[in-house]
Amino acid sequence: MSRHQYDLVQCMKQPGTKVGLLCLLCDGKCPICDLMVNPTRKVRVCDSCSFGHLAHRCILCSAHLGDNLDLAAAAYYCLECVLEEKHREGCPRILNVGSLRADQRLRQIKS
Ligand SMILES: [Zn+2]
Ligand SMILES: [Zn+2]
Ligand SMILES: [Zn+2]
Repeated sequence: MSRHQYDLVQCMKQPGTKVGLLCLLCDGKCPICDLMVNPTRKVRVCDSCSFGHLAHRCILCSAHLGDNLDLAAAAYYCLECVLEEKHREGCPRILNVGSLRADQRLRQIKS
């Protein structure tokens, strides 16, 4: 099965030590297959995804998680993806979310 049924690009860089975070809407979703069952292993994201403005964004939908991460929940891989070792493939952050790009444009206009 393909990694994602949508046309989404994932980061796939070498994960670091930072835990991947989800917004409250995405809370419980496996970042590989989107299932909300059997959360098994904490998600680690790569250094560039755990740094700067990305550190405060949901790894799936890029929603802002609040300045103190008060809207964040730790992301977990589901049991099935761990058994298939998909969690070893790399940082699962989704890169081509439209709202993120809109956001960055907004930031450029503002600054
Ligand atoms: Zn990454
Ligand atoms: Zn989200
Ligand atoms: Zn999964």
